[in-house]
Parts: sequence; structure tokens; C-alpha cells
Amino acid sequence: MIPFNKPFLTGNETKYIAEAVQSGKISGDGIFTQKCHQFFEKKYGFKKALLTTSCTDALEMAAILLDIKEGDEVIAPSYTFVSTVNAFVLRGAKIIFVDSGGENPNMNVENIEPLITKRTKVILPVHYAGIACDMDRIMALAKKHELFVVEDAAQAIDSYYKGKPLGSIGHLSCFSFHETKNIISGEGGMLAINDERFIKRAEIIREKGTNRSSFFRGEVDKYGWVDIGSSFLPSEVIAAFLFAQIENIEQIQAKRKLIWETYHQKLSAFSKGNFTLPHIPEYATNNAHMFYLVLNSLETRTKLITYLKSFDVLTVFHYLSLHKSPFYESKYNGGELKQADHYQDTLLRLPFYYSLTTNEVEFICGKINDFFKENPSLK
Ligand SMILES: *Cc1c(COP(=O)(O)O)cnc(C)c1O
Repeated sequence: MIPFNKPFLTGNETKYIAEAVQSGKISGDGIFTQKCHQFFEKKYGFKKALLTTSCTDALEMAAILLDIKEGDEVIAPSYTFVSTVNAFVLRGAKIIFVDSGGENPNMNVENIEPLITKRTKVILPVHYAGIACDMDRIMALAKKHELFVVEDAAQAIDSYYKGKPLGSIGHLSCFSFHETKNIISGEGGMLAINDERFIKRAEIIREKGTNRSSFFRGEVDKYGWVDIGSSFLPSEVIAAFLFAQIENIEQIQAKRKLIWETYHQKLSAFSKGNFTLPHIPEYATNNAHMFYLVLNSLETRTKLITYLKSFDVLTVFHYLSLHKSPFYESKYNGGELKQADHYQDTLLRLPFYYSLTTNEVEFICGKINDFFKENPSLK
């Protein structure tokens, strides 16, 4: 059986967890959390990194930090994970969904400006599959209309836009360390802050609305309730796990890129007319978060999933357009989003994880080739 995902362990996770437990400090913001913060700030140039219990929580922190209120508008893709926008809906925002582009599922930058109104506060690009959105154009629009940019970089660790790390460009950025991502801690996330104005308040929001972080640094002599907030910080057990992963980030990324290249090379040989391969624009890098195909129809995808399953290969489709979701459909009054619906129906993700072998990748690609040979009408 070739599953869709298998978490990769570097070997030091339980060792570091034991150290955290033995240190006597297992709540948040201990040594391992600090080590993780320092690593991310140094490697990716974030002004401030704050671990959170999930990317969902980091997004919720972003919405609080930007003072999102009833009636504010947030421009986000429809082809994304629920949390991208749910975090803003929780604070009363109206989501203005923008279509994906024709080349990949990222938001179509051409379509953003006509959606901007007096109520728009945020543009929320999602770097799908770790492939960068066109950030120069998004940042220019934000500047022109005085908007904030929050990057949903959940899938985008160690990926770049014109040489800049993703997550270091928007005012705020949110990462995920869920077990399906490149670098994991089971559940986990991070808020990256690139606009210094938000640092102090972010620490408060993350610590239940208290100035506990300042207190522990000796900046105030007692701590109390100073703002709204919640408990967004992970325990040291999670941070210890994560540290074992980030110590091996180079090795993890090198292996994932090799798997990605193998898929790309094998599938290129017979993709023509059958499916399209991921498009990586010139300004973007590939962090090998996932490997997907875009098929010609829903029927082809459904049959290919069943075909591969009969050989014990598990492949999965991805998002359902959020503007048509049971929760948001009645609230949505924008136009058709044809590309989002297209990816909803035709995008297929192939098994992708560290321990996937070259033989397994070749086997999967061979079966995809067989499928199209056996079903010429499904091209
Ligand atoms: C995984 C993911 C999230 C949510 O991450 P969690 O850490 O599970 O909360 C949000 N947005 C995108 C695009 C994701 O891929």
C-alpha cells in the first residue's frame, strides 16, 4: 500500500521531548520555543517569529492584530483551506473571493483590483503547493489602496519569491507544522511578523491578552490583562518535536525535491494531452510541498483515483470552492469563479512523503501511463 502521506521523523524528536520534560518547564515559551524562534528569524529574516498551536491559530491572531471588525472586507482565493478565511469570518469580516489563475491555483492577481472597495482591509494570498503568488504586484496593490497583506504560507516553508523567503514579504504571515506539511510537529504553526508595529501586541494576544511576555523579560514589574487574546502558544513538548525537524530541514527539503523531480521527469514523458503538470512561474521556487496533476475532467479524475486505488496507490483531490460551500454559498454575491471550480474538479494530489522511494514513484507514474493507454477516451 502506498499511502498519500507518511510523517517523517528525524530521530531526535523523542530525545528532545524527554529533555523538555526533564527540564521541568513544559508549558510554552521555554528553551525549545526560543530555539525555534531564533532559527526561523535568522534563516528567513522575519522580524519576529511566534510559534502557535496551528496555522489556523496564527491566522486568528492576524485577524485580531489587524482589528478586523463586522463589515470589513478580506480578499482571498476560493480555492483554499477553510481556515484561511474562517479566521477572519470569526471577527465579522466579509470574504470577497477571488478566482485562481489559469496557470496554477494561486489567486489571479489581475482580478484583485476590481474587488477593492472602501471597506477592503486585507489581501490574503495563499501560496498553493508552496509556489509563490506574485507578491510584488500584491504588495503594490496593498500600498496603493492602504491595505494589509497576510500571507497564508501554510504550505510554503523554505520557498522563495524573487529570492525572498515566502512569509517575509506580507505584513503578517502564517505557517503550518501539521503532519501533512514539509516540517511537522503533529499540530503546530507560526505567526511571522514583518511589520514591527505588530510585535508587542502579538505577544499579548498570544498570551491570553496579558503582558506576561514583557513581565518575563523584566520590562514590567507585574503582569495583567491589557487586551483581548487567547491561548495561542504551544507547549515545550511541541516545540521540542519541531526543533528536531528544523535541525534537519536541509536534508528533508533535498529529499522532497528529489521525489518531486522524479515525478516531474517521469510524468513529462506522457503528460501531453492527458494532464498538465504544476506550473512554477519564473519568480517562484519549488519547495516540494506536494505533487499534483490537473486532469481534463472530473470524470477522468474519479476514474484515475479508483484505478490507482486498485493498485493500492492512494491519491486525493483537494479543496472544494469555498464560495460554494454550505456555510458561505448564501453569503456570496460575487461572480462565477471558473478556475477555482476547475481545480476543485480536476486537481489530483499524488502520494508525497520523505520515505517515498524512487521505485514507488516509478510504479505510480507507470500506472498513470497505463491508465491513459487503457482509456484513450478520457484524455
Ligand atoms: C494546512 C493549511 C492550513 C491550516 O493549518 P493548520 O496548522 O492545520 O491549522 C491553512 N491554510 C492552508 C493553505 C493549509 O494548507
